[in-house]
Amino acid sequence: MKIATYEQNGVAHIGIVRGETIVDTGFAGSMIDLIARWDELRPAFDALDDRGAAPLAAVTLTAPIARPGKIFAIGLNYADHIAESKMETPQRQVWFTKAQTSINGPFAPILIAKNTFTADYEVELVAVIGKRGKHIPAAQAHEHVFGYCVGNDVTERMWQHAGPQWSLGKSFDTHAPIGPWITTADEVDPHSLDLRCLVNGELRQSSNTRHLVFDLWQQIEHLSAAMTLEPGDLIFTGTPGGIGAAMDPRQFLKPGDVVRCEIDGLGAIEGVMEAEA
Ligand code: ZN
Repeated sequence: MKIATYEQNGVAHIGIVRGETIVDTGFAGSMIDLIARWDELRPAFDALDDRGAAPLAAVTLTAPIARPGKIFAIGLNYADHIAESKMETPQRQVWFTKAQTSINGPFAPILIAKNTFTADYEVELVAVIGKRGKHIPAAQAHEHVFGYCVGNDVTERMWQHAGPQWSLGKSFDTHAPIGPWITTADEVDPHSLDLRCLVNGELRQSSNTRHLVFDLWQQIEHLSAAMTLEPGDLIFTGTPGGIGAAMDPRQFLKPGDVVRCEIDGLGAIEGVMEAEA
């Protein structure tokens, strides 16, 4: 099932995407409420008929989770990206956070902040936590994932590398576009997905999630050793090679650039870069 949040005539809804249409669920809570009550709600969602379906093109899709409790992202998790970053393959997982306020809609403009010049893209598979848990063994980790979406871990490189800790450079407003919807976990093998990023139609990143250094289950085991994972928490699972900062000469995003991130089976998100007012 593909579950989206959207606005129509200024009103927010949660809907089921079927082909090129969207069916309003009538669910009045947030996506995080929905995820927390999923076992109870799913039968009614499965039974929704297509009466009243709207064309997808007639609605504005919004970030499926507007304010996740936590956003964690793993660094250096594809071999080709480690090589282009001139780093060693890490022995332990390298994590940073992205601020809740960096969440952005799947087709909303992405802002280049004032006095910054090194905005860059990173296409990533994003896992959405379903069932809360702590000390989750890798073998059980799949039971704790509600679904998946496409993410762009937009990064301000100069700020990222200004100190030993990356979170500020990863947390600028609008720098976590996600969507276009959440595909439930029963329909996805997270470790066999082709993903790519295009800038103005030019292919920059192209890989498959089978190349993750630490797979999603190891990631969940590691994070949940430190903290309780809760419904709606997001995990950005790493980016493959091809970032602008590693190109020769380096290419950073400029106002007007169109950044498209795609994952087969999960859809595509696309944002235009805009100078912050
Ligand atoms: Zn990343």
